[in-house]
Amino acid sequence: MNQHLKRAWAEISVSNLKSNISVIKNIVGDRIMAVVKADAYGHGEGEICHYLKESGVKYFAVSNLDEALRVKNFCPESEVLILGYTYPEYADELAENNIIQGVISKEYALELVKNTDKKIRCHIKIDTGMGRIGLKYDTPEKCAEEIKNIINTDNLSVEGIYTHFAVADSYDEDNIRYTDKQEKFIIDTYDILKSENIHLEHVHFMNSAASCYRTSSRSTLARTGIIMYGLSPNYPLEIPSGLKPVMSLKAIISHVKKVQNGDCISYGRTFTAERDMDIATVTIGYADGYSRLLSSKADVLLNGKRCRITGRICMDQLMIDVTGMNAKEGDIVTLIGSDGNETITADELASIYGTIGYEIVCGISKRVPRIYVK
Ligand SMILES: *Cc1c(COP(=O)(O)O)cnc(C)c1O
Repeated sequence: MNQHLKRAWAEISVSNLKSNISVIKNIVGDRIMAVVKADAYGHGEGEICHYLKESGVKYFAVSNLDEALRVKNFCPESEVLILGYTYPEYADELAENNIIQGVISKEYALELVKNTDKKIRCHIKIDTGMGRIGLKYDTPEKCAEEIKNIINTDNLSVEGIYTHFAVADSYDEDNIRYTDKQEKFIIDTYDILKSENIHLEHVHFMNSAASCYRTSSRSTLARTGIIMYGLSPNYPLEIPSGLKPVMSLKAIISHVKKVQNGDCISYGRTFTAERDMDIATVTIGYADGYSRLLSSKADVLLNGKRCRITGRICMDQLMIDVTGMNAKEGDIVTLIGSDGNETITADELASIYGTIGYEIVCGISKRVPRIYVK
């Protein structure tokens, strides 16, 4: 590694990514549509796309046009679906780059085709209970009617329909019934179209949670995001065995000192030593995406042992209790990942302050270099 970078860095395990893909393939087969939005959940979209392509992934999903153009650039042969909104003014870019746009209404479809002479490819998004975007109807019959309307739009090529589950990551009976209803709605809609001789190539509704807990042979694609990166859609719910976290987060010790009973550590004097202690300063802070909400609550790993953060996390630095550990300047500290027999996952950190592993890995900031390791 470039020594200049040896302050705070994220290690991305290529072998874990690839073995996760084979675990997922064992479950969903070749239907993987890799969700690489938000810089591949903070893992670095260029490299992740490259390795996914090496693993045989052909479908990608992103949130916006910029991401789609970059993925097309990394993987020109792949199919790229934009899940979120694209301003209709960019319809030409969609068409020229052979990108598939998620379409959420007839009006939106008309706006898109009005802005280009070329054919727009799309999948139609149905809102079956997520309450976010998409066609929303009481019955599959009415929904199918509107889809037929959209299909009749000139210069629009409708290749599929899809929906998104709100609670596929729950074992609660009521939630399972809710997801059953969402799934039935989209399948019924698809089958009505089929019965009227409208054969769409794709109908998809499986996300990571559905791929783990309720695979369905009817979903032509599995839009897997978080499990590719080895995290759980709903920690501490287990994910299929063999899935391993891809990202580790590391920094080094810059300074070790002895403090005495009564000494204060960091801003706000929220931590006061109640005995003599060894305190080490670590070269990472909230500007690296390591949340200040973890102050005095999270552990880090040093030489295979857990150490507690002492006091407030600063912008670029934080302090840890290394009493009796022989810590030295230059020692590597693991904030996310494994050291010896101990492991701290992004999911564990998330649970400390009420968020999800997704937000932790997406939030590791740009100034943290991603280092790709075997
Ligand atoms: C982000 C997203 C996904 C992936 O979700 P995971 O829980 O990470 O698998 C799938 N579909 C849609 C529409 C999304 O927005």
